[in-house]
Amino acid sequence: MRIAIIGAGISGLVCARRLVGQGAQVLLLEKSRSLAGRCASRKFGEHVVDSGVQYFTLRNSVVRKEMQSVSGDQLQTISPPIFERGKVYREGEERFYLAEGNNRLGKLLAEGLEVRKESEVRGVLPRGKKWEVGGELFDGVVSSAPWPQSAALFGMRESEVPFEPNLTACLEYSIPWDGSRYATLDSTGLEPLAWVGCENAKKGRILNEKSVYVVQASTSYSREHLEADPALWIQDLQVRFEKEWGLDREKRGVTFGHRWRYARRSRGAPPPSALADGLYLCGDSVTDSRVESVWQSGIEVAELLLAKGGL
Ligand SMILES: Cc1cc2nc3c(=O)[nH]c(=O)nc-3n(C[C@H](O)[C@H](O)[C@H](O)COP(=O)(O)OP(=O)(O)OC[C@H]3O[C@@H](n4cnc5c(N)ncnc54)[C@H](O)[C@@H]3O)c2cc1C
Repeated sequence: MRIAIIGAGISGLVCARRLVGQGAQVLLLEKSRSLAGRCASRKFGEHVVDSGVQYFTLRNSVVRKEMQSVSGDQLQTISPPIFERGKVYREGEERFYLAEGNNRLGKLLAEGLEVRKESEVRGVLPRGKKWEVGGELFDGVVSSAPWPQSAALFGMRESEVPFEPNLTACLEYSIPWDGSRYATLDSTGLEPLAWVGCENAKKGRILNEKSVYVVQASTSYSREHLEADPALWIQDLQVRFEKEWGLDREKRGVTFGHRWRYARRSRGAPPPSALADGLYLCGDSVTDSRVESVWQSGIEVAELLLAKGGL
């Protein structure tokens, strides 16, 4: 059984590992230069900052065990609380991250897999009982890309599973972190700032008595400013953040912004309609937008393919 997997984010990588472990031939095609997709981290001045996934939960025992085995000492927990409207959010919830950046998970999961980076898939074409991807034939094709991108490749309607954008700003200050809180959150969607997380809560990440904040705008703010000049919305989010967290603008350091066009599946979105034989989906096209859910979806699709392939 020869399978092509589109995208080397968490779900695609997990799916590939499970298939390869059972003897399938798998080729992962990733359009970007890096692995882990939206589980993204980057160098930011002298620091490492998570610009996508902030933290993840591990409630599912299977995912937890696999994550622990893959991540080893890299797996760490965040202790300070998150606040929503002045109250501690989900007190007692365990929150995890990877010491050297959440994107490290991509590298760890990809060990031993055949991954072609900088290989954007532009079409998936039927060839009898097989599918052609990038000039090669496969028995099955799994797309892990967000639904609007998968839909374009599979010839389906983009609107079937709506995705929401997100504007993210990273802000540095020459002020030490006081350690009292990790993040503030607004889950109503009414405030322009949906999330502010302090990267100092992740041990060893932020150096030299500085503090770094990841600010995510609400969906409606992100939609409204998606095509605007990033300098404008970074500045606007920064002013709002300073007011909310009481930080001194005189202590500002470097900033950067990232525009996530397809950040998360809309809550309560229906699953996509049936796919042609030999085409499969994993990731948040078929589940909710959380690391442990997309991990599980990778396992489930692999199991489905293995059952069909009779390996
Ligand atoms: C700003 C932000 C914050 C988030 N915070 C959290 C959080 O704190 N906790 C949490 O659990 N979840 C969080 N999420 C959600 C989480 O990131 C996603 O649900 C999860 O990472 C999706 O993984 P995936 O493998 O399904 O998809 P992706 O990570 O999107 O991977 C898909 C891959 O496919 C590639 N690709 C796309 N099209 C093509 C193509 N045509 N050819 C080749 N490759 C292609 C992409 O480059 C990408 O690498 C956040 C998401 C965002 C954007």
